[in-house]
Amino acid sequence: MIILGIESSCDETAAALVTGDRRVLSHRLAGQEAAHTPFGGVVPEIAARAHVEALEPLIAAALADAELTLAEVDAIAATAGPGLIGGVMVGLVTGKALAHAAGKPLIAVNHLEGHALSPRLSDPDLAFPYLLLLVSGGHCQLLLVEGVARYRRLATTIDDAAGEAFDKTAKLLGLGFPGGPAVERAAALGQPTVPLPRPLKGSPEPHFSFAGLKSAVSRAAGQHPAEDLAASFQLAVVECLIDRTAQALRSLPAGGKRPTALVVAGGVAANMAVRSALHTLAREHDLRFVAPPLWLCTDNAAMIAWAGAERFAAGLTDPLDIAPRPRWPLDPSAEPVRGAGV
Ligand code: ATP
Ligand code: MG
Ligand code: FE
Repeated sequence: MIILGIESSCDETAAALVTGDRRVLSHRLAGQEAAHTPFGGVVPEIAARAHVEALEPLIAAALADAELTLAEVDAIAATAGPGLIGGVMVGLVTGKALAHAAGKPLIAVNHLEGHALSPRLSDPDLAFPYLLLLVSGGHCQLLLVEGVARYRRLATTIDDAAGEAFDKTAKLLGLGFPGGPAVERAAALGQPTVPLPRPLKGSPEPHFSFAGLKSAVSRAAGQHPAEDLAASFQLAVVECLIDRTAQALRSLPAGGKRPTALVVAGGVAANMAVRSALHTLAREHDLRFVAPPLWLCTDNAAMIAWAGAERFAAGLTDPLDIAPRPRWPLDPSAEPVRGAGV
């Protein structure tokens, strides 16, 4: 089984070909950093136009890299949300057009499901259920991944996502955009000497909060070397993520099957301090720790193709008139949390 994956929900245009037995035949990615850098963040209209320009040649290149034609592909998986509506529409409409023209099934993939299942692409032994810390630019959630299309949200952020906090901190410290890798590099050169809060640490429900941390960085900016602030910020984020994940492990739903592993995915999972602290936590709880390789953590189309492969194998395809969903929770039954996104 060969799946073409298309991703365009934020500021990465991507296309990939992945097989049902976990071979990444090709993956292509076009970032838009140069276009957004002057604005210090992603501008939706600029992003949508850049996706229009980049996507078709990128798909052609991914097919050429894999020495395949569209006729040899079994299904087309495109991100249908959540994300910036303009970009999502570009990718989904392109996926629909290709599916229609080539007579192939369409699979509308939730971008978060792409992140959530990506660790199963890199680790063939990762079995359901697993406890997933999904930490990205727009989300910070703890999810029990019970199966394909079966997600139970245990916690979410009541304000900012962790990646958003990295991006805002980078901006405050003048480290540039995108912020995560820049903060990580600066943190390696500093000492975590600046006292910063650990929002919600110790609270009984495993939810997250990062807005107060960002405000504290803003107050401290200029009074300490940027490297020390970056190191202090990163340590605070890591401690919050670990405390909240530990709380979720202590309060797993009664009667449920024990998770087979502690898993991290999403852009912030590319952070080495985050990965190593979670690895230690998993060991303390006698759990296997699984993290995808760095390139599979940040946005890419291989994870969309893989989620498509998992859905296709489960018999899940979608009609060509399916609508894009700028907001699309993985667990539709989860109650909104005070002030929180989904
Ligand atoms: P979402 O997946 O929630 O829709 P997104 O697709 O924009 O949001 P991702 O591409 O998954 O997010 O992740 C991007 C985020 O990850 C950015 O906020 C970025 O700063 C952060 N990030 C990337 N690399 C690192 C790193 N090494 N350390 C910390 N954060 C990082
Ligand atoms: Mg991005
Ligand atoms: Fe993402």
